[in-house]
Amino acid sequence: MRRQLFTIASRLFSRLSSQSDRPSFGIAFDIDGVFLLGHAPVGSPRNLKIPFVFLTNGGGFSESKRAQDLGQLLGVNILPSQVIQGHTPFKQLVNRFENELVVAVGKGELAAVMSEYGDKNVLSVDEYTSYFDAIDPLAPYKRWTTKADIDQNSSSNEMAKRKIAVQTQRVQAAFVVSDSVDWSRDIQVLCDILRTGGLPGRETAKQPHATFPAERLGVGAFRIALEAIYNRTHPILLAYTSYGKPNPFVYANAETVLRNLMPSLLSNLDVENTINSGIHCFKSLYMIGDNPKIDIRCARQAGDPWFSILTRTGVFKGKDNHSEFPADLVVDTVEDAVNFMLRKECGS
Ligand SMILES: [Mg+2]
Repeated sequence: MRRQLFTIASRLFSRLSSQSDRPSFGIAFDIDGVFLLGHAPVGSPRNLKIPFVFLTNGGGFSESKRAQDLGQLLGVNILPSQVIQGHTPFKQLVNRFENELVVAVGKGELAAVMSEYGDKNVLSVDEYTSYFDAIDPLAPYKRWTTKADIDQNSSSNEMAKRKIAVQTQRVQAAFVVSDSVDWSRDIQVLCDILRTGGLPGRETAKQPHATFPAERLGVGAFRIALEAIYNRTHPILLAYTSYGKPNPFVYANAETVLRNLMPSLLSNLDVENTINSGIHCFKSLYMIGDNPKIDIRCARQAGDPWFSILTRTGVFKGKDNHSEFPADLVVDTVEDAVNFMLRKECGS
């Protein structure tokens, strides 16, 4: 299976790499269900001279780690800037919360993600919770143990000081970076943080900033649960911001990233011409995704020059187009999508 996928990949991208040095189009690939089936690659952007990015609502690991892992899996060099994850927009919020205490919820390497964005005072919800006795009423009944990122070398005196410091410092923002692993604890702790203005156990106060990366099953469902419970137990409605697909901001951002990739693809002369002729404009930008409600809906909202291609390799398996969020084109695989783009853009 894996060898077969690599064969598809090399056919796919050897054709793309022989195309024009001045590409007038760019590509945004969804990852899960399009590029990867499970952990097996279905395509490899080897020597690709067309600007491309990976656009996924997934996350939990830093863009540099994800680029390295994808690069190893596909056998190519991928820049961290070519990986746009659900939480990548959080990078732009860092100035606002750089030195403030923020709590990050989700699976994966949350502190590493937020630290790479420049946040200097971030605690994972695992570590944060560990400083509050009995904050999770169900903890004694849970059969798993949570590994908190606590310095094991600290003395009990240092730990006690640290505990007081965390308990008395106001949490200024809660970032849901990726899927919550322990919903009951995380909803409890987030409700405590949000309704007390960032000081669990204290009086009710104005809620801190709450941010979610994406409207998808997992993070999206977690947001709905938190919102429903918070709104039933608190007189003021939960305020939050959602990023990631299908937020149209994601595609505007992807277009900027694709444009910024152009200089590394062009010869010096071409770069000069591009600079002289102003900002590079793409005639077409292709989004290749497997989920009509997320990928295709978002591309449709983004409008021209985005062109949506729906594959049947993941969420969508229908014979015809999706009824509610029809794509501009429906194909079986990512290979069919690339063949279509080549015929349309390069006449091959
Ligand atoms: Mg997908």
